[in-house]
Amino acid sequence: MNYNELVKYYEKLEGTTKKLEKTDILAKLFKECNLDELDLIVYLVQGTVFPEWDSRNIGFSSRLILKAISSVTGVNAEDVEKLWKKKGDLGIVVEELIGRKKQTTLLTRKLDTKKVFDTIRKLAELVGKGTVNKKVQLVAELLSNSNEKEARYIVRTILEDLRVGVKEGIIRDAISKAFEQDTKEVEEAFNITVDYGEVAKLAKRNKLKEIEIKPGRPAKLMLSVLISDAEEGFKALGEKIQAEYKMDGFRIQVHRNKDEIRLFTRRMEEVTKQFPDVVEFVKKYVRGEKFIIDCEAVGLNKKTGNYLPFQNISQRIKRKYDIEQMAKEFPVELNIFDVLYFDEKSLMNLPLIERRKILEKNVKEKKGEVVLTKKLVSDKVNEISDFFKESLKAGNEGLMLKNINSIYTPGRYVNGWCKLKNVLEPLDLVITKCFYGEGKRAGWLTSFTVACKDHDKFLTIGDVSTGLKEKGDGLTYEKMTKLLKPLIIKEERRQVFVKPKIIIEVGYEEIQKSTTSSSGYSLRFPRVLQLRTDKPLNEINSIKDVEKIYNYQRGKKII
Ligand code: ATP
Repeated sequence: MNYNELVKYYEKLEGTTKKLEKTDILAKLFKECNLDELDLIVYLVQGTVFPEWDSRNIGFSSRLILKAISSVTGVNAEDVEKLWKKKGDLGIVVEELIGRKKQTTLLTRKLDTKKVFDTIRKLAELVGKGTVNKKVQLVAELLSNSNEKEARYIVRTILEDLRVGVKEGIIRDAISKAFEQDTKEVEEAFNITVDYGEVAKLAKRNKLKEIEIKPGRPAKLMLSVLISDAEEGFKALGEKIQAEYKMDGFRIQVHRNKDEIRLFTRRMEEVTKQFPDVVEFVKKYVRGEKFIIDCEAVGLNKKTGNYLPFQNISQRIKRKYDIEQMAKEFPVELNIFDVLYFDEKSLMNLPLIERRKILEKNVKEKKGEVVLTKKLVSDKVNEISDFFKESLKAGNEGLMLKNINSIYTPGRYVNGWCKLKNVLEPLDLVITKCFYGEGKRAGWLTSFTVACKDHDKFLTIGDVSTGLKEKGDGLTYEKMTKLLKPLIIKEERRQVFVKPKIIIEVGYEEIQKSTTSSSGYSLRFPRVLQLRTDKPLNEINSIKDVEKIYNYQRGKKII
């Protein structure tokens, strides 16, 4: 497909806010695509060049785009920047500038969609010193071969800010409509592949049913709903429930395919290299040649053998060097709580109680290395409440309560699993706006407007400015500024609007009603606890969670 054709679809998408219309436009586009370009186009309309499981970013900053635009149009970078400040969108800026320049020189060459896709992907693949100029050159070349409209969308794609309003739900519905497939089946296939490009190709060939979870390819994980007490757990899950210690570590999906063991985080980032100790434990203590197990890796105090909070081991996740040393210094114990695949078979449709039996049969426990999460199956509120207290006493976060008959439902907050904690749950929120500091903090972004989600929208819930450090290790203002600057969309004096990408965990004393924030709530004494790089944007806290905590604290049902 010519890129120009795709651009016409982008314009139609941008021209409507109605979900149904967007779905129809996309369904028509998907129908028109050849099989071999369908996946690329599915990624492109989502404003990316990667499937969702692939955590790579294009990583090209607005500053570099300014440079590329300047070199193609001959307008100096400062003037481009001035125009950017005025328009608030570099896509519109490049469109205007290229339009001015090309009025007389008509393009004869047609730009191919695959060429655009490959070039943008190359930007993510070129890393290391000396590649910056090469990248700017690649972008400049692409822009000089494009007409003004094409340039608008190329720039926005490179900045990972396409602005055509296509979210996961619309892609799902459009695939379903284009290829006459059941919406639920499309979604289930996505939760297994985490790749709408692949799902679209399968749907086109009427092969959605053939898709199975398989070792080596990360799938979405099952998620839990927050509840306030054991009684609510019984109401949501049935008369008899399985309670498990809720450990404060981080989630690892372990895949074994014969000799190959691979570890993935909940965002499907591969962390096999960072955890050679876990790979060894799995080899030693989990029987079977092919399996996928769901686990929590929990930090241990080397001397006492007690559990440590997640923060103590979080540094291991991104570590690239001294891995063995880190494994010794910050040991982890693998707590296994579920199995999704075993011995050539998907187990996702088996009830929890059966899956747990398979785990019990095939895992040899060794304290400090591999264990199954401690569990209690009960039909009594007081037993669950006692078990909850026992878990807290052992240094854990609380309990996970599970429906004993629930199948494994990846990627969704369903009532199969509930989590029970006794603290006011910190919120995972996304930064949408920031403010520059003053005095000795001038130049740094020091205050952050945070938002929760409401389906496809973000609703603000106030500003947070404490919890960060001036300097040293850990999360500093400088580090936050570095993370946020490439995401700036618009600046208005000290205030800057950013793409909603950076997720932070925010602690607080209380949730209050507010008339100034769009969620209708604000946080009392908010403080930044940590970055949540392990969480995708669609899993941040929702307005429903906020309402729930607000009501819960009013009822003072804290156990
Ligand atoms: P959420 O996963 O609900 O979006 P979150 O990332 O803030 O929120 P928590 O509130 O800590 O996570 O609760 C869910 C997490 O608890 C799971 O993703 C998993 O990593 C962890 N966990 C610890 N013990 C268990 C267990 N026994 N069963 C399932 N998950 C557990």
